[in-house]
Amino acid sequence: MTKVAAVIRADHAAEAERQSRMALENGADLVELRFDYVRDLGSSTIRKLANDVGTRAIATFRSPVQGGASGADPRQRMTILREICRARFAYVDLELETDREDLGSLGRLASGHRTKVIVSHHFAQAAEAHRVSDTLDSCGAEGEIAKVAVPVTGFDEAVQLVDLVRSRSGRPHRFVLIGMGAAGIATRALADSLGQEFQYASWGPSAAPGQLSLRTASRLRGHEPIILGLIGHPVEHSISSTMHEAALDALGLSAVYLLFDIPPEGLDRFLLAAERLRIRGFNVTSPHKEAVARSVDELDGDAERLGVVNTVVLRDGWTIGHNTDVYGFRVSLRSLGLRVGDRNALVVGAGGAAKAVVDVLLREGAHVQLTNRTAARADALAESFDDQIEVLPPGVLTRKGPWDLLVNATPAGTKGVPDGLPVPEAVIANAGFIYDLVYNPFVTPLLRTAKRLSRPAASGLEMLLHQGAKAFELWMGQTAPFDAMQRAAKEALR
Ligand code: NAP
Repeated sequence: MTKVAAVIRADHAAEAERQSRMALENGADLVELRFDYVRDLGSSTIRKLANDVGTRAIATFRSPVQGGASGADPRQRMTILREICRARFAYVDLELETDREDLGSLGRLASGHRTKVIVSHHFAQAAEAHRVSDTLDSCGAEGEIAKVAVPVTGFDEAVQLVDLVRSRSGRPHRFVLIGMGAAGIATRALADSLGQEFQYASWGPSAAPGQLSLRTASRLRGHEPIILGLIGHPVEHSISSTMHEAALDALGLSAVYLLFDIPPEGLDRFLLAAERLRIRGFNVTSPHKEAVARSVDELDGDAERLGVVNTVVLRDGWTIGHNTDVYGFRVSLRSLGLRVGDRNALVVGAGGAAKAVVDVLLREGAHVQLTNRTAARADALAESFDDQIEVLPPGVLTRKGPWDLLVNATPAGTKGVPDGLPVPEAVIANAGFIYDLVYNPFVTPLLRTAKRLSRPAASGLEMLLHQGAKAFELWMGQTAPFDAMQRAAKEALR
């Protein structure tokens, strides 16, 4: 079974010890003591740490050329490494290149305490599979455990590393192979099923990009995880991962929700690789919602009607596209107590979300008007429905209305997006209820304006939670823990 090693990057030995104890109590099998972060390092602090937590620790003094945090010169570093190897740690990490001359003597010192030697190499840049494979062999020839880390910038490169490990199965060495960076997260999530020796997990505030948290890593230990996720470009702004991780955690499921940043040209390759990685399902966000609808094997009723997919389920090589935004918006209207039958609604935006909103409003019997900064897109959306939808150019909005409901289905007001309000204040004042699909920040400029104008309003969080809960049920075949998802989402938006 892959051992979960919480990475401790504390700048004082006493703090390193305190954090180590906490991580071990919180599910870590081991801690990796990053000695290159410890500023009061000397023989006595090394011996004390060895006595206190050494039997459950990997001792690492990473060199500056391999990404270490200390300014120690090679001689100082070697002195410390010798101290480390003389003390009793479960494992010591030595570097294939930097420590090449001394691997034999350090290894002999370490073996005096039955300390196992990890020989590692961190590539500074992406490397071809055959070089990574050769380096794993070289590390394995020098130590009991080979560790290689290589930066990956895209999903494809991470998949190549997974394929490489699978093609090497049967080789004798114990190993760790990590794709570094956010794109490499699949190599970490699959650690157990790939037979990796350790899962280096984040502990405390400092985490390497792509590193799983100790909580998630502990949940996956000993299992081939069910992989879920979100594809989009970009994806890092999304709180779906927080919400779904909270759900998986609440139910103790050996599954993980990962973020996959896939540019448009990479979509087909992702869909092919998703099956090879045995991904159970994923959410889809901009700009892939329509392209995915054209690529899956089957569509549910809502997705087929709209040609927009935000959730995909994979089963035995068969992909089914769903649109849980439709469900999410419909249920949120109920939970907000909004009756829209025979009422006038103005929808702002003409993307995938606007389409789901218009669909629900029409089916509930509302009279829908639509506006968008790009008129042609609004026209196309209106024409895709059989019902009558009036398209209003943004310039005439102040002369139209009133509306019972105004729905913002554009990203205007989202954290990091420059334009504040999707429509002028006079238009907002002319609506009875304001529904902003944007949920980040929790109080958007539109919601602030609505409050100032004494208009009742709602954020997109309710819809997000309902569409997320539905997606969860489609993937996992069980009811989603809505309260846990809501708590985590609210916490993330604070
Ligand atoms: P999309 O397909 O990319 O469409 C975006 C729409 O917004 C387009 O009509 C675009 O106009 C317009 N737009 C973009 N930036 C704008 C700006 N600064 N000012 C005015 N209009 C702007 O995106 P989507 O998937 O429909 O999502 C739209 C928004 O809804 C996003 O903020 C998303 O986070 C949110 N959403 C929320 C939920 C939820 O559960 N709460 C679910 C889905 C979506 P052009 O046609 O002129 O480009």
